[in-house]
Amino acid sequence: MNLEEYKDYCKVDGHDKLFADKYGFHKISLDELNELYRNETFIPYAQYLRTCNWKSKRLEILDRDSFRCQGCGGYETENKQIVDVFGMKSSSKHLLWKDTKVIHWTDLSGNKRSSTLNIPEGKPDKPYNLQVHHKRYVQNRLPWEYDNEDLIVLCNYCHKQEHDNTEILVFDELGNNIKDYGKCGKCGGTGYIPEYNQVQGGVCFPCHGAGVNILLINKKL
Ligand SMILES: [Zn+2]
Ligand SMILES: [Zn+2]
Ligand SMILES: [Zn+2]
Repeated sequence: MNLEEYKDYCKVDGHDKLFADKYGFHKISLDELNELYRNETFIPYAQYLRTCNWKSKRLEILDRDSFRCQGCGGYETENKQIVDVFGMKSSSKHLLWKDTKVIHWTDLSGNKRSSTLNIPEGKPDKPYNLQVHHKRYVQNRLPWEYDNEDLIVLCNYCHKQEHDNTEILVFDELGNNIKDYGKCGKCGGTGYIPEYNQVQGGVCFPCHGAGVNILLINKKL
């Protein structure tokens, strides 16, 4: 099977197709991933970000952080046509806060959860995109196996700033600090390319969404 043709989306019921596409990744289970990569020695980090496991972890962190950037308070935005009182859609698109009010999702233990979103007042000053930042990495640890304290919601601006100003510690499996691993030149270390939001949730391809120049996952897990 060609990975890029795997079109079956993992639905997140947000009563909003765009939102579901955004927070949903192409549905793929760990078993399917292992099957797809059975002849390879490892599965790239970004492929694990396509699983429902990561989607659940991501929503858990977004829910904990009230779907707000923990740096500036930024909230998810979207470009949308405005519908007037006659039901006519405006010809141009307007930058608005995402209007999803409730998201139903399933956590890593299989429990059904609901998040009620608090949409900010007023209009957004610029487009925001919420990303989940890893404060540290451990080699060969699956993205959803990190403690929640290791993860935080940041907007695209604060996320970029964090990677510009702070060196993210990377540890090997034995707990040794790996120094001079180098940041990905494409995404600057964030692992996201906001312009590619519609493609694999904006995951940076060269670094497999890890932001670093070493393989975060380098063996079969
Ligand atoms: Zn921010
Ligand atoms: Zn980050
Ligand atoms: Zn990158």
